[in-house]
Amino acid sequence: MNREDLIVTIDGPAGSGKSTIARGLAERLGGRRLDTGAMYRAFAHEAVTRGVAEDHRALLHLADGFPLTVDAEGRVLVGDRDVTDHIRTPEISSWASRLSVIPEVRAALVPIQRALALPGPTVAEGRDMGTVVFPDAPVKIFLTASPEARARRRQEELAAAGTVIAFELVLADQIERDARDENRAVAPLKPAADAALLDTTEMTIPEVLDFILAIVAAV
Ligand code: C5P
Repeated sequence: MNREDLIVTIDGPAGSGKSTIARGLAERLGGRRLDTGAMYRAFAHEAVTRGVAEDHRALLHLADGFPLTVDAEGRVLVGDRDVTDHIRTPEISSWASRLSVIPEVRAALVPIQRALALPGPTVAEGRDMGTVVFPDAPVKIFLTASPEARARRRQEELAAAGTVIAFELVLADQIERDARDENRAVAPLKPAADAALLDTTEMTIPEVLDFILAIVAAV
């Protein structure tokens, strides 16, 4: 298939390895990674900064024409402010999860995601990439892993970024976020009917990449 048309979607719950795999895959394909979670995080960050995260009307107003851009290096900008280094905190994780259930917030971000995807190759990671945003993508992957393995990875990721949190707290937070993602009315987390399901609990990163690259090579 034409490289410019290639979109690989990677969906899955928190800690399933999406970011690591999407990053590795984009590199191997010579394309870009589209981190849509970062966009929901940027929206949440802006809402918290403005003190309107619990004000539904103000949130709808903020979503309308939300000035989000992502540059070629993957830096996330709201207006002309680079928020990339401020959106990975547990507080913003929690707000992103809560605000992403609002249909108007999703409706504001989806067109931006679509506009950024082409020309490919693009590896788009999120929760609804294969089901809603890129339903015609030629390669769709849904990653899973056991809840304990995912929480362990998340805990290590946070520790590497300087935030030390007890395993039980990471797991509890993850269970809450998973439930919200899976049960929301709009764009719930679920595999697309034509997605390849991959349980990465016992797999190494190179094994996962090779598995997906084999699928890409066949389209
Ligand atoms: O992937 P990440 O953990 O950065 O995503 C932050 C939050 O944004 C998730 O918990 C999820 O609720 C939401 N999200 C979403 N749809 C996407 C990507 C992320 O609802 N496509």
